[in-house]
Amino acid sequence: MITESVQELVKIERIGAHSHIRGLGVDPETLEPLETRQTAPDNEKYERYGLVGQYRARRAAAVVCRMVQEGKLAGRGVLLAGQPGTGKTALATAMAQQLGPETPFTKLTGSEVYSLEISKTECLIQACRRSIGVRIREETDVIEGEVVELEVDRDAQQNQVGRIVLKTTDMETVYELGRRMTEELLRRRVRPGDVISIDKGSGRVTKLGRSFARSREFDTAGEDTRFVACPEGEVQKRRQVEHIVSLHDIDVINSRQQGFLALFTGDTGEIKPEVREQIDARVAQWCEEGKAEIVPGVLFIDEVHMLDIECFAFLSGVLESQFAPLLVCASNRGVTRIRGTEFCAPHGVPVDLLDRMLIIPMYPYDEPECHEILRIRSEEEDIVLSRPALALLAKIAVETSLRYAMYLMTTTAVLCGQRRGSQVEIDDVKRAYLLFMDTRRSTQYLLAHADDYMM
Ligand code: ATP
Repeated sequence: MITESVQELVKIERIGAHSHIRGLGVDPETLEPLETRQTAPDNEKYERYGLVGQYRARRAAAVVCRMVQEGKLAGRGVLLAGQPGTGKTALATAMAQQLGPETPFTKLTGSEVYSLEISKTECLIQACRRSIGVRIREETDVIEGEVVELEVDRDAQQNQVGRIVLKTTDMETVYELGRRMTEELLRRRVRPGDVISIDKGSGRVTKLGRSFARSREFDTAGEDTRFVACPEGEVQKRRQVEHIVSLHDIDVINSRQQGFLALFTGDTGEIKPEVREQIDARVAQWCEEGKAEIVPGVLFIDEVHMLDIECFAFLSGVLESQFAPLLVCASNRGVTRIRGTEFCAPHGVPVDLLDRMLIIPMYPYDEPECHEILRIRSEEEDIVLSRPALALLAKIAVETSLRYAMYLMTTTAVLCGQRRGSQVEIDDVKRAYLLFMDTRRSTQYLLAHADDYMM
């Protein structure tokens, strides 16, 4: 059962709206976007990134990522501005991938700040602090060696205790282990031949792999772990270990009301400003002492025009604060009213905040680009389309919207399945087009039958 639901989750994850996006697709040296398959049919590299067209925006995004990596973008924001479906969220996703797994990336939709549980500003503060990492360096004494033997004994109470023989540089030492450590070692499939490192202070074990090539960390600190046979004072190496946690994680762990379990439930509630002040002071001190380093991440706010004037004022302040993430916003609005005021502004964002942003415009796709995006999506969703069916979907995408064509493609697969066809044909697309309306047809219908509807 568990395996089945895990597989389902994996599948859902795999075909999420942007799951085909794997990076910005730019040359790492020149930051020039790689061409699409349309113009470079054998471009394998491009295939791997999944982004189509939008060359200028991709180049601009790559420059922004480079600036983040070089720490040159403090106090600035970026606005991805373009019509619906021009790939703003896709580009932000690609930026996160470009920055690498170590860079914290938080995604928030403008309307998410309006919750009954926490205030708007608390929601924004939490999102900002999730987007700021703290790389903590620690010096620890470790025992490192190759596992020669690992034995498990069960006593009468079924308590597991283990015995491990570690071969260090010049000798073999026997360590007797507590139950938790033994269980962890078994669960992680530590076997003879593996090279592991044990942090004497915390009991954390790092599996370095048979070849030392890959390292994976897991925590086995437990009150019952004692290295009984470990000679007093034995230190094989003094090693520097680094881990990244977000400022928000530190807040939650240190907030007495919440406790660390809130990290798993996500139910963090409001965190007192005093807790945050203390943490900021402590982190600043660690940074000064060289024990920690701030890793500014990215806070992506989609539909930023949904925020109101108070939120915008808060964000302006964030950009000036000591620990600021890179703020990437997206808006598909033109000149529109700023929520909470009677004033209009471009993209629904106050001009003083806009003034601090680098604006990256995004433009609608032409037919060959829509064709290419739909082709990539069909592969992602395991949908086999005939050439004419794909061509018709691309035409529909240009005339209606890319999103509508994508949804239509998914429904054509269902229609094709119903008639037990092996591939989606042009007739499946036509049938789906008649079953589901796009916005324009729906509007036309409403206008034509305005009198039949309640006002
Ligand atoms: P909105 O303003 O309505 O929120 P958006 O600009 O954020 O729209 P996306 O959601 O990024 O648009 O794009 C719609 C769909 O098209 C998504 O599935 C996205 O992954 C895909 N898509 C958009 N642009 C590209 C592209 N250049 N390459 C590949 N896929 C793309």
